[in-house]
Amino acid sequence: MSHRRPPAAHIDRSVSCSNCAAVCCRLTVVLMPDDHVPAELIERGVQGVDMLKRGEDGWCVAVDRKHMRCTIYEQRPAACRRFVMGGDYCCAVREAHDRRAIPSILVD
Ligand code: SF4
Ligand code: SF4
Repeated sequence: MSHRRPPAAHIDRSVSCSNCAAVCCRLTVVLMPDDHVPAELIERGVQGVDMLKRGEDGWCVAVDRKHMRCTIYEQRPAACRRFVMGGDYCCAVREAHDRRAIPSILVD
């Protein structure tokens, strides 16, 4: 997802997107008005909010399944941009994925 490295503490520097199966891209991503992602990647949620579609495998449809990379990286939503590699949430979803208990909602 995002690959930012903020200067703050609470960053696990052993974590890297390069050896992660993009597990944060299994989270529900709620789109904001300023997000501009391709229309075919968007679905309307039950609460009437726009979200990124996910495939039957649970990953965002924008993920390249072969390389587990974002195919719309330059256009990715704000929620994805703000997701911090090695941050608390990143580590939590990685741990939850390892335990096979993931889902949450990623909002900006
Ligand atoms: S838009 Fe890109 S970074 Fe965001 S969830 Fe989808 S694949 Fe991941
Ligand atoms: S869960 Fe963390 S390490 Fe894995 S792809 Fe997302 S930001 Fe990168």
